[in-house]
Amino acid sequence: MANRLRAPQIGRCANCGEACPSHRVCPHCGRYKGRQVLTVEPKK
Ligand SMILES: [Zn+2]
Repeated sequence: MANRLRAPQIGRCANCGEACPSHRVCPHCGRYKGRQVLTVEPKK
C-alpha cells in the first residue's frame, strides 16, 4: 500500500561503480554496457 512509487532496480555501474538503475545508462559516467551513450560533462 505504501508502494505508490515503484523504485527502479538499483544496480552498480560496471564502469564507475556508482549506484545506478539497472539496465539504464549510468547517469554518472554515461556508459551502458561498455558503450559511451551519454556525454557527461565533468563536474568542477
Ligand atoms: Zn557509471
